[in-house]
Amino acid sequence: MARYIGPVCKLCRRERTKLFLKGARCESSKCGMERKPYPPGEHGRGRVRETQYLIQLREKQKARRIYGVLEAQFRNYYKAAAKQRGITGENLLRMLETRLDNIVYRSGLAESRSQARQLVSHAHFLVNGRRVNVPSYRVKQNDVVTLRERSQELLVIQHAIDTAGQRTSPEWIDVDRDRRQITITELPNRSQIDTQVQEQLIVELYSK
Ligand code: SF4
Repeated sequence: MARYIGPVCKLCRRERTKLFLKGARCESSKCGMERKPYPPGEHGRGRVRETQYLIQLREKQKARRIYGVLEAQFRNYYKAAAKQRGITGENLLRMLETRLDNIVYRSGLAESRSQARQLVSHAHFLVNGRRVNVPSYRVKQNDVVTLRERSQELLVIQHAIDTAGQRTSPEWIDVDRDRRQITITELPNRSQIDTQVQEQLIVELYSK
């Protein structure tokens, strides 16, 4: 599956907010948004006329970038969310939140979603005892995600756990960091999803 491989701090600067794409660096003074809190490029500091379309577009781009999803896949998520019962925006966020790479990140077993994505792609995790190497795999209620036996001693995971100290896991997953095990106790509703994305703007953009 294709993924964005360009400079990530520019993405935060473009969205004018910290998207926390680089783990510990995001909390440090080296953060690109701390050093250059304006959009990249020659005209980054120029004035931009904020139309409603631009606001909606930026919100969609922000969501894509936070979850590391390319445009075509994001639009597919939206189409699937619109077909489901309930509120489309909430369905969309729930689909993004239940991606396996996001679960690994939220649990604190990875420093960032991109690191979680790599760990999943390299088949370090099992879902209900079966090897899954697809970052976009969607977990379901009562699924149990575990680290493979041979991957238990991975330094990168221990380091992520050590630095994830203050990052609390969401209430809809049960995390046992010592056993490297995550249980999906329920699927999240909107109030349980901790994100800066205003999903209604994305729905408005796509429903034009
Ligand atoms: Fe964004 Fe993190 Fe880079 Fe800061 S360090 S600009 S939060 S990716």
